[in-house]
Amino acid sequence: MTEETKRCPKCGGEGVPIIYGLVPLVPGGPRPEIFKAEDRGGLRWGGCCVDPWSPRSHCWKCDLSFGDRDDVHRGVRLYGEPLPVCIEPWPVRADGIEIGSVTSAANSPGFNCGVGIAMLDRGHWRPGEQVAVETPDGARPATVADLPFILNSD
Ligand SMILES: [Zn+2]
Repeated sequence: MTEETKRCPKCGGEGVPIIYGLVPLVPGGPRPEIFKAEDRGGLRWGGCCVDPWSPRSHCWKCDLSFGDRDDVHRGVRLYGEPLPVCIEPWPVRADGIEIGSVTSAANSPGFNCGVGIAMLDRGHWRPGEQVAVETPDGARPATVADLPFILNSD
């Protein structure tokens, strides 16, 4: 893992790393160094729980936590009209911010919706997260899904 800071996808400003872990608190004791560093804005404490989709960076200006795009594919289910052919990547957005792209997609009679393979920022891997996919025929509501797609798994 690198300590390099990332650019905020909303304002382009410099993000600070998010640090996860248990912070020992001693009643009446000194304030832990990690909180002093957070007060100075040099990092953000993300809490003691971390999972694979936890964001890695934080923009204090926008109060936005975000991830870096890792080389890990996620599934997406796309709703609405039948999908056109995916010839080039389709942008994926969450709250209007681009968080990745769908690199292949097909209509699935089994799931009764479209299914796609996407590269998404780490902060947006949680199955069920609502996103929007910009297809050549317009934006489609979609949800992040686990891979592989398994019929009757939910
Ligand atoms: Zn920002």
